[in-house]
Amino acid sequence: MLQVNDNFLKLKAGYLFPEIARRVNAFTQANPDAKVIKLGIGDVTEPLPPAIIKAMHEALDEMASRDSFRGYGPEQGYDFLRNAIAEHDFRARGCDVAPDEIFVSDGSKCDTGNILDIFGDDNSVAVQDPVYPVYVDTNVMAGHTGDSDASGRYQGLTNLPCTAENDFTPALPEKPVDLIYLCYPNNPTGAVASKETLQKWVSYAKEHGSLILFDAAYEAFITDESIPHSIYEIDGARSCAIEFRSFSKNAGFTGTRCAYTVVPKDVIGKTADGKDQPIHPLWNRRHCTKFNGVSYIVQRGAEAAYSEAGKQQIGELVSFYMKNAELLREGLSSVGIEVFGGVNAPYIWLKTPGDATSWDFFDKLLSGVHLVGTPGSGFGASGEGYFRLSAFNSRANVEEAVSRIQKLMSSSA
Ligand SMILES: *Cc1c(COP(=O)(O)O)cnc(C)c1O
Repeated sequence: MLQVNDNFLKLKAGYLFPEIARRVNAFTQANPDAKVIKLGIGDVTEPLPPAIIKAMHEALDEMASRDSFRGYGPEQGYDFLRNAIAEHDFRARGCDVAPDEIFVSDGSKCDTGNILDIFGDDNSVAVQDPVYPVYVDTNVMAGHTGDSDASGRYQGLTNLPCTAENDFTPALPEKPVDLIYLCYPNNPTGAVASKETLQKWVSYAKEHGSLILFDAAYEAFITDESIPHSIYEIDGARSCAIEFRSFSKNAGFTGTRCAYTVVPKDVIGKTADGKDQPIHPLWNRRHCTKFNGVSYIVQRGAEAAYSEAGKQQIGELVSFYMKNAELLREGLSSVGIEVFGGVNAPYIWLKTPGDATSWDFFDKLLSGVHLVGTPGSGFGASGEGYFRLSAFNSRANVEEAVSRIQKLMSSSA
């Protein structure tokens, strides 16, 4: 008989975004004339920068001619892109990362999930709470957890609560953990990690022989110059951290698809019989066996993100979204809402007014002023009582959203 992977049945049924969609659909069916503004899912709204479009057009023209046509490329990515990444994202910031430690892929979501292939099943795993759900769900699918409790926490996972009380900077785990997922700038809280905070984690990982899985999908949104963009800005990180990066949020590649993972050759794990085993060859083997490379056209587009014009246009795109974040922050603070994030990240994390639950506030925003955001509790038990708004939207929608929230607050005051 065909057996299924029973671990999938442990996954919570009412996943966050489908539940949001269900409530929004029910509302718009009952109120067909309401103009609903969505500040919910973290997807970009603005078109690709012109320098990237131009590079992709040229690459497509190359594919149209027999002489310059390309078939399969290297699974790990073309040298032109790996070299540009090593130079601009790392060496320019003093980080020691070689092009052959960079694995180009079609997304960080996939990479953060797929990375579990190369690790044993008995590692203890720590995640921030609230958390990007992919880290948790992929560990559930891999059988690394037990069932979930009423608050949605899975047995066997170590949750590191991030709340206003600890400034969204979690304490080190009490019991030793082997794999630690850290996301900075953080989705959903918009918090960032100082050099000291990251140094503390790197020291912990080195002391315990653990590995940090560092998701830096939002590094381009860092405005404060003292905040590290990469974990490799920290001494010692080359032996205890993998870093995930994506072109999705900075260059608007959510629909175009390109990302990369850095696996330093210095990271060493243990085999079942206690021998040292570098993880770089394992990830290389996994990547080449299960993945056939990102399209040439898309990699040329990603390369153009590092051209002078590309950098400038991406800078403008990021500034545009960060101005949205500032408008949200200031507009909400001015009516007494406590807001976090939104300074070095495109997310505003707010304390729900009047101690409402996250879902109560969701319903109130939707029915009261036709706005959609994301309930904090959907990202983890410690997100209860918080709410996420995204700065990825048009200026007009953001301005309208701010004035609607202000109206809601004055009518309920
Ligand atoms: C958007 C996002 C990513 C990027 O995912 P892609 O698959 O590259 O689009 C990675 N991590 C976090 C936390 C994100 O929010």
